[in-house]
Amino acid sequence: MREKLLEMEQYAIEKNVPIIEKQSIAFIMNYIKEHNIKNILEIGSAIGYSTILMASAKEDVYVTTIERDETRYMECLKNVKACDMDKKINVVYQDALEVNLSNDLKFDLIFIDAAKGQYTKFFEKFKYFLNEGGAIITDNINFHGYVGHSDELENGNLKSLVVKIEGYIDFLKNNDEFDTEFINIGDGLSISVRHEK
Ligand code: SAH
Ligand code: MG
Repeated sequence: MREKLLEMEQYAIEKNVPIIEKQSIAFIMNYIKEHNIKNILEIGSAIGYSTILMASAKEDVYVTTIERDETRYMECLKNVKACDMDKKINVVYQDALEVNLSNDLKFDLIFIDAAKGQYTKFFEKFKYFLNEGGAIITDNINFHGYVGHSDELENGNLKSLVVKIEGYIDFLKNNDEFDTEFINIGDGLSISVRHEK
């Protein structure tokens, strides 16, 4: 598996696939162990790098992951098989905003790592699938250090993306239902936990 992961890192560099930073995935794997996470939903599989690492955090972890890009989905399937993880990982080829998950599916962890401009939509859609005591972790909250500095950017795609991530951060900070902690490692993570009733 080690070798396969190195190969995936290489592929990601060559094909410009934005896989998670090492520090961030190490943090998440640790979180999975410490909170005894069993079922994970991932939005944005890409080639399955974070998926495979999350699934390998401990024995009884199962990951459902959603990817809308066909090439990446195929690559993800291939990598999951090569790592012998098909029993622990279910890869869904669909747009996460269109997918219909069965209402009785519940997850201990939801990892949001797809289109950065749609974070709030993903959060609002998938929070119903979170188990009591579960957490929603979001990646790329700092977006290469641009977040918090959108006013210094010229108008364009980058600026509009950064403004949306800033909007997501405000949404999390002002959320009455969830408490969010922001962690400044890798490209920035947020961890949102629902208040106890
Ligand atoms: N989690 C991966 C990286 C994901 S990159 C890792 O760290 O290894 C983000 C991925 O989300 C891209 O492959 C993109 O195709 C996918 N994506 C973006 N918007 C999506 C959506 N609405 N539904 C499903 N996948 C989406
Ligand atoms: Mg990411």
